[in-house]
Amino acid sequence: MQEFKHWIGGKPVDPHSAEWIDKVAPATAQRIGRLARGDATDVARAVDAARAALAGPWKDCGDEERASLCDRIASGIEARSDELARLESEDTGKPLSLARAVDIPRAVSNFRFFASALRQREESFHHMGTAFSYTLRRPLGVVALITPWNLPLYLLSWKAAPALAMGNAIVAKPSELTPRSASVLASIFNEAGAPAGVFNLVHGYGPEAGQALVEHPDVAGVSFTGGTKTGAQVAATAASSFKKLSLELGGKNPSVVFADCDFDTTVDGVARAAFLNQGQICLCGSRILVERPLVERFTAALVERAKAMRIGDPSDADTNLGALISQEHRQRVESYIALARDEGGKILCGGGRPELAAPFCDGAFVEPTVVGGLPIDCRTATEEIFGPMATIHAFEGEKEAVEMANSVRYGLSASVWTQDLERAHRVAAVLEAGLVWVNCWLVRDLRVPFGGVKESGVGREGGRWSLEFFSEAKSVCVKAG
Ligand code: NAP
Repeated sequence: MQEFKHWIGGKPVDPHSAEWIDKVAPATAQRIGRLARGDATDVARAVDAARAALAGPWKDCGDEERASLCDRIASGIEARSDELARLESEDTGKPLSLARAVDIPRAVSNFRFFASALRQREESFHHMGTAFSYTLRRPLGVVALITPWNLPLYLLSWKAAPALAMGNAIVAKPSELTPRSASVLASIFNEAGAPAGVFNLVHGYGPEAGQALVEHPDVAGVSFTGGTKTGAQVAATAASSFKKLSLELGGKNPSVVFADCDFDTTVDGVARAAFLNQGQICLCGSRILVERPLVERFTAALVERAKAMRIGDPSDADTNLGALISQEHRQRVESYIALARDEGGKILCGGGRPELAAPFCDGAFVEPTVVGGLPIDCRTATEEIFGPMATIHAFEGEKEAVEMANSVRYGLSASVWTQDLERAHRVAAVLEAGLVWVNCWLVRDLRVPFGGVKESGVGREGGRWSLEFFSEAKSVCVKAG
């Protein structure tokens, strides 16, 4: 039974309250460890440690030293990638093969990428004849990184790498459902030579530890990824102290399939977008819009693809779908399957729990589910479900496709499937989304801006946007001689 303490000032620390939270593996419903239940006192200690680090030698660390530190952390993650993939799979229930192929390599890339971005960063210089100005970028100070459970290390590294690169001191609060890779990351920071207090970790519940962190007056910036409702609460809390804020929130993303698409590639891509990580990726395409002439053939192929997916033991290399994050989340997804029926939908495949042998018989599994026959504006088709469940709807022509795609309060991502590139560009330009993929999905270039519009978020991360978020610009104006 493993124990996960806070990590404060360069070492593991017991919770001030002496209270612990049980960690249960979602695929087996077995207790696999316990983690510290953080409170406002733990948060205050972590923020003090971060402030002390900022007052020490860390403030004089140059760009090259911080870039080298990012590189060493990347190597540290790489060296422990088998262990990290196993922890990520056990904590989340996701297939081990997915954690190996996506979560851990992308965490490595995040640190390598921001090391390189820091080395290549340029500042502006403006000459106006009588004077010239240049821009300095200074770290924000203590930054709070609050992350969800679906891509635990990947999303934490996406924030920690640029925060570190720009010279901040970090207090991270991962989801209490997925604490373990963050604890390993803390020790990797230590082994890589990060000064004590540069990376602090407070485990615990969002409304306790997370809320205290956002409220703390010495936290200068908050980078939050999670649900839209929690994001609104974080924004309201942070507003009174004018903290810099980045919010990456929920989505209800459309996959827009035109009749002229490359059929097989599109079926593969749309199925992957609907069900990867059990549909628990903010970018998943859970509203599938298909041009009417193709809808019957496409639906049949998608349903066949979903039925062929293997669900079960996350460590089996042939498994496509693992468990959902928790029993509570499974109940939530199942409540949407029931709602879909109430709203007049037809369950075309899935809709139930797979029958699995021990030790997975009590795990939080749900079959990949496709629902047809629903109106585009019903709750099932407009609310984020965050599970292996997609609805399919027919449209007539480009105009209606765009209207349907834009008809929700979210605007995170969309994918467009067509062989007519002129149409692809036209549609991409008017879709209300922060990211649009054409004939692909989840292809990530770390240099491009990432984030949502409408209720999917505020601000952008990625590339220079992350470096800018984790720093403040200062102009220096010098009279020309
Ligand atoms: P969540 O419930 O909003 O939680 C996110 C994080 O916030 C967790 O660490 C949570 O802690 C913490 N938290 C909860 N209440 C808080 C408060 N009052 N103050 C500060 N922190 C608080 O989201 P989730 O269920 O973990 O993740 C799923 C959601 O994340 C989905 O909506 C998904 O779309 C979204 N997401 C968005 C992106 C993106 O890039 N846009 C990426 C991934 C996921 P606890 O877990 O302990 O409650």
